[in-house]
Amino acid sequence: MDDCLFCRIVAGQSPSDIVYEDDAVVAFKDIYPKAPVHLLIVPRRHIASLVEATEEDVTLLGRCVVAARRLAERTGYAERGFRLSVNTGPEGGQVVYHVHFHFTAGRKPR
Ligand code: 5GP
Ligand code: ZN
Repeated sequence: MDDCLFCRIVAGQSPSDIVYEDDAVVAFKDIYPKAPVHLLIVPRRHIASLVEATEEDVTLLGRCVVAARRLAERTGYAERGFRLSVNTGPEGGQVVYHVHFHFTAGRKPR
């Protein structure tokens, strides 16, 4: 997936501000933050969108959710709360076709 921006970031071939990584997941700051805290949590393995996700991806996607909990604790938003969202497909607002969870916090929900 040489043409995938987030695969390049995961591989360290594109610059990013990484805030968390483990064997399955990488999280980095969104370049255009829409909230005081705006992180992107991505699986290391390329999955284009949730439409492509299968049973084989369940553990990996779950790892992304658990990473969000860790990030909530690290950023101090575990109690105050945060939003985890996955834009999917053209009408879902997805621009980068490598599954990613937006972790946003610090802004009152609309
Ligand atoms: P989507 O609309 O696909 O759900 O979200 C893509 C997100 O990636 C957007 O919030 C956008 O700001 C972010 N983004 C796009 N290009 C880059 C980049 O090169 N680096 C980082 N860190 N974020 C990016
Ligand atoms: Zn990718």
